[in-house]
Amino acid sequence: MDEKLIIDVARLKAEGEEFSGVVDDAVLEIGGELLRPFGGIRYEISAQLFGTELLVRGTLSQDFDAVCARCGGDFDFTLNVDDFTVSVEVDEKSEFVDLTDELRQSIILALPSYPVCRQDCRGVCVTCGKNLNEGPCTCSHSERDSRWGALDALVPEKKDD
Ligand SMILES: [Zn+2]
Ligand SMILES: [Zn+2]
Repeated sequence: MDEKLIIDVARLKAEGEEFSGVVDDAVLEIGGELLRPFGGIRYEISAQLFGTELLVRGTLSQDFDAVCARCGGDFDFTLNVDDFTVSVEVDEKSEFVDLTDELRQSIILALPSYPVCRQDCRGVCVTCGKNLNEGPCTCSHSERDSRWGALDALVPEKKDD
């Protein structure tokens, strides 16, 4: 695992080159326990010089250990960035271009604000705290968010099969 992603511009082939590897995810600096990166940032990129412009394109992926924003359960997911694109202005003196910061920013921008373990996660009952993915609780309004309480008063109670 590398600490940085550095392109050796001085030795880059004119027709462009492909690179792949893993950069230490410590560069992500994501605080807190809700999202913990592991395994490193994987990249597969192609780099080519067009005059004084270094153009880099490719894909990134990063595994995360996360806590579901709805039910509080632990789960793992892989974040994929399919359109990693960077353009850097270089001059004759540039030998190495460090793209570590661009990697980091791309991953952070793609992160979900509220990671959920699955799209249909039922969350926890606001009354008793039971994880509703494991089954219904015995509270009468267990399947509804408390914000719907006012509406519940207007709509006749519907029974689930
Ligand atoms: Zn969940
Ligand atoms: Zn409940």
